[in-house]
Amino acid sequence: MICKAHEPAVQHYYLLHYLLKYSAGWFLSFPSFEQLAKPALRAAILRHSLGDRPEAHALRSDEGFVMTTIKLHNTRTRGKEVLDPINPDDVRLYLCGPTVYDRAHLGNARPVVVFDVLYRLLREVYGPDHVSYARNFTDVDDKINATAVARKEAGAPGTLEELVQERTEETISWYLADMAELGALEPDHMPRATAYIPQMIAMIEELIAKGHAYPDGAGHVLFSVKSYKNYGALSGRSVDDMIAGARVEVADNKRDPMDFVLWKPSTDELPGWDSPWGRGRPGWHIECSAMSHELFGDSFDIHGGGNDLMFPHHENEIAQSCCAHPEGDFAKIWLHNEMLQVEGKKMSKSLGNFFTVRDLLEQGYPGEVIRFVFLQTHYRKPMDWTDKKAKEAEATLRKWRALTAGIEPAPSAAAAVIAALSDDLNTAGGVAELHKLATTGDAASLLASAQLMGLLTEELGAWAKDEEVDLSIYEKALFDARTVAMESKDFAEVDRLKSAYLEAGVEVRMSKAGVELVPGAGFDPAKLEAALKP
Ligand SMILES: [Zn+2]
Repeated sequence: MICKAHEPAVQHYYLLHYLLKYSAGWFLSFPSFEQLAKPALRAAILRHSLGDRPEAHALRSDEGFVMTTIKLHNTRTRGKEVLDPINPDDVRLYLCGPTVYDRAHLGNARPVVVFDVLYRLLREVYGPDHVSYARNFTDVDDKINATAVARKEAGAPGTLEELVQERTEETISWYLADMAELGALEPDHMPRATAYIPQMIAMIEELIAKGHAYPDGAGHVLFSVKSYKNYGALSGRSVDDMIAGARVEVADNKRDPMDFVLWKPSTDELPGWDSPWGRGRPGWHIECSAMSHELFGDSFDIHGGGNDLMFPHHENEIAQSCCAHPEGDFAKIWLHNEMLQVEGKKMSKSLGNFFTVRDLLEQGYPGEVIRFVFLQTHYRKPMDWTDKKAKEAEATLRKWRALTAGIEPAPSAAAAVIAALSDDLNTAGGVAELHKLATTGDAASLLASAQLMGLLTEELGAWAKDEEVDLSIYEKALFDARTVAMESKDFAEVDRLKSAYLEAGVEVRMSKAGVELVPGAGFDPAKLEAALKP
């Protein structure tokens, strides 16, 4: 693709075109860039000719695409790489989606938000019509079956299969609603595993035919890990280490303890499909391999997920896909986000710090605040959710929303924000740039840049709107109560007001000069109003 650009004559032509068109603002009747080359090639040429231009705004091409080089940390090669899409007209990314048996917890939301920023950045750089993003739903799984069995035993009407379907439909709708509240755009493809069973069966047959998988004669098909010499390359572990670390289940039907299930038998009551190995259902790993192949072919650009999926899920996806389609690369770049903690501890039900996204929304944390807290930590670092961070995030967003109210966004995000995001999705750096724009009062640029990160958008703004409450009467009430109390030495009313304000989600700052009230997370105007009517 780049070879043409390396010819000096071609480079000169582009340079001349660029100089005439952008530097002096002249419009001459040169052929348009569209007639000359693809967006990525043009971007490469412009980067060469521009170096680091100090403009406030990112440079846009004729078609409005932003010129930048995106670098991403590739788990596979353990280094940052320039994203060089297989086809710049169709940049393809795949993210492992949820198993739909329950509400998404806060940790499940992190890769969704991280990948949403990447998706937005790619759309900005390659154009919204030139990016394909797929995130699957695993809607066949033992955990889903278990919820249906439990409901059946509790007397729910319907067959097990109907109860499974009810559960998956309900969970998918919850998931989409919750992720939308975090400002995540819906992917272009949201394949459900159960809609791709024929493709999975075909892929398993292919693996058996090529000697990479074997049926056990009792309804299972297993992948032979020893048949794939690069197994473990992604996570950088040897097969022996993996066996030692992963408490691999040793079973009679496995030729090797590391072999994993591609297909397993199903009972008559549970969801199942006819296959050459009897009625059954797919293993989890084969789903992503089959769905990504159906949607994106043998090779695509980026595959992502939490780093808890690296082994065994992603190793198994690679083994299956590369053995079934050895002519392709499967995914070129692998992105993995680090895990999420709550107040410095691993989130767990036993510690009582386990939150679903819905829990937090119901506690009054706006989705935009959750997103903003997430983006303050780089995706490759552990992210610590704390109440303090959420309160600060809420105050910042409130300030920025006030600053940008009624303002038109700039034509493009600030160059510094795009540069930060293009450097391995440095969202923390991007947020630092947003603070700078707010400090200098460049509201139009702040708005455009924040919106590129999915913040300060119209859709996420409802929480900040209905809370434009005049706080001065509440400040005066507390100030007056304190003046009276200084005389009477009876501070009961002062204490009552203070705790009522705190209860309404308002921080109380008292000094000699006066009282300042600052709405924080979970601010409830109705409760505040009630505070004055004991
Ligand atoms: Zn997957």
